Amino acid sequence: MENGISGKVILITGASSGIGEATALLLAGRGAKVVLGARRPELLAALAALAARIIEAGGEAAYAPTDVTQAADLAALVALARARFGRLDVLISNAGIAPNSPLDEGQVADWEAMIDVNLKGVLYGIAAALPVFRQQGVGHFVNVLSTAGLTIKPTMAVYAGTKNAVRAITEGLRQEAGANLRVTAISPGFVQTNLADSMGNPEVRAQIVAKMGEIAIPPAAVARAISFAIEQPAEVDINEIVIRPTAQGG
Ligand code: NDP
Repeated sequence: MENGISGKVILITGASSGIGEATALLLAGRGAKVVLGARRPELLAALAALAARIIEAGGEAAYAPTDVTQAADLAALVALARARFGRLDVLISNAGIAPNSPLDEGQVADWEAMIDVNLKGVLYGIAAALPVFRQQGVGHFVNVLSTAGLTIKPTMAVYAGTKNAVRAITEGLRQEAGANLRVTAISPGFVQTNLADSMGNPEVRAQIVAKMGEIAIPPAAVARAISFAIEQPAEVDINEIVIRPTAQGG
């Protein structure tokens, strides 16, 4: 049945947990052929299990270890999509980390890691997919940002900086994309995921975990927003979606 999703080849980075996993399940359930990437070796088993679960349910899925800080890994994942399914319709750049802390702590390695994953990882995805989209004459970029970029909070300066750099790149990409390529930015608020695992500062992590426990929405809610953007007819480009818990103030 034509639903705007069925038959599309959709690549998702950071698909081993949280928003990426929920999005893979929803889109595969709606008939997409999903191509999944994640990095940590211990999570590759989770990725394999996710792909197996999709295939057992009658869907189509492929996966490969993919560290988005390595441009070659993203090129290889795009190549896998084309080799297995003949094309690439959507790239969802979702992989992200948030090792947040006050700037006074000078956690330079964490700042660099956020720039590498959250910012350069998205650029490497664009570098890998854009020529393919140009060649096909069709394609859709979906970049996962954050409400942390809309309301800047203490301890989140660098994280927000990376997300807002991607916001600027996403808008520039939209303007350069032309009449046939679509570009969507999704900014979630608090979502119940493993994101706090990447936070080394115990106070910051405890604060975020508590807030998530209080108000966070499930990752499936963000998956539905992503699905909404993808399912639109080719001439309709959903550019920005902000999706927060109703109870989230800033
Ligand atoms: P999770 O920690 O549950 O998922 C993050 C995913 O990113 C994992 O699959 C992880 O897999 C992957 N990842 C991390 N580093 C890399 C890397 N170098 N290469 C490839 N994959 C990587 O968190 P979320 O689902 O919450 O995060 C998804 C996105 O949503 C992120 O961009 C995050 O910034 C954003 N977001 C989340 C919010 C929330 O409240 N949860 C709010 C707003 C935005 P692996 O460890 O295998 O690398």
